[in-house]
Amino acid sequence: MYNPHRPRRLRATPRIRDLVAETNPDRTRLIMPHFVVEGSDVREEIQAMPGITRVSVDNLVRDAGSDLKMGIRCVILFGIPAEKDEGARGAYDDDGIVQRAVRALKNAYPELCVITDVCLCEYTSHGHCGVVRDGKILNDPSLELIAKTALSHAHAGADIVAPSDMMDGRVGAIREALDDEGLDGVPILSYAAKYASAFYGPFREAAGSAPQFGDRRSYQMDYRNAREAEREVALDLDEGADIVMVKPALAYLDVVRRVREMADVPVCAYNAVSYTHLTLPTNREV
Ligand SMILES: [Zn+2]
Repeated sequence: MYNPHRPRRLRATPRIRDLVAETNPDRTRLIMPHFVVEGSDVREEIQAMPGITRVSVDNLVRDAGSDLKMGIRCVILFGIPAEKDEGARGAYDDDGIVQRAVRALKNAYPELCVITDVCLCEYTSHGHCGVVRDGKILNDPSLELIAKTALSHAHAGADIVAPSDMMDGRVGAIREALDDEGLDGVPILSYAAKYASAFYGPFREAAGSAPQFGDRRSYQMDYRNAREAEREVALDLDEGADIVMVKPALAYLDVVRRVREMADVPVCAYNAVSYTHLTLPTNREV
C-alpha cells in the first residue's frame, strides 16, 4: 500500500533516534539532594527512603565526590541542626550546619554546583516554615529570617539559593537582601508552586521537619488549584526568580506543563519520593 507518511523511518537505528530525540534527559540536568547532620562519620539510614542517608559533613564530602564521579554535578542541601528553637536561629547562623557543609563542599570541589534549600522548618521547634505567634504562621516577620538565611548561605559560597517556604514575597525579600550585599550574581531557584502533599512524608522523616501542630495548608498550595500555580510562578518571576520549581513533580505533571508554557525561565521538577516508595502510602498528614 502506498504511504508517504512513515514516522518509523526516524526510529530505524539508535543513531537516527538520538539525532531526532526531542528530549534528552541527562545527568547534567539532575540535582542530588543531601541531608546534613552534626557530628563526624555519621551515616543514618532514612527508613522511608532506602539508599538515602543523613550524613555528617565529612561523609557529605565523600558522597558528593561519588555524585561527581557519576556525572551529577549539582547537589541541594538540607540541614538538620542539633538544636531547634522558636526563632530558627540555626538557619541563619554563619556557623550553622548548612553553612559549614557549603564551605566544605566548595573547598573540596570548586566545580560542584551547591544549591541550598532555604527554609526555617528544619530549624524551628514547632516545625513550621515561618514565624509562629499565637498559633498563627506569620508572613512578613518570616521574610526577614528567610532572607537572612539565604544571605548566610550565599556568603558561605552557595551557587544557588532555593527558598521552599511559600511565604508571600520571599523571593523579592531574598533578592533585595542579596543585592544589598553585592551578591547580585547569586541565582534564586524558587519552589514556586509547592503543594501541601502527603508525598512529603519520607522527606519529612529525612529532614526531621514535620510540623508539631496543624499542617502547612495555610501557606503551601491546595492540590485542587492549577491556575493558582501560574499566579505563584508569575509573582516569583516578577520578584526576580531565576528558576521556578514545581513540587511534588510526578503527581503534578499537568502543572509542570502549564508552568513550562507560561514561564520563560528554566523549570525544575522536584520529586522527593524514592522510586521504591512511589506506590506506598506514606505519612498521611500534609
Ligand atoms: Zn519549610
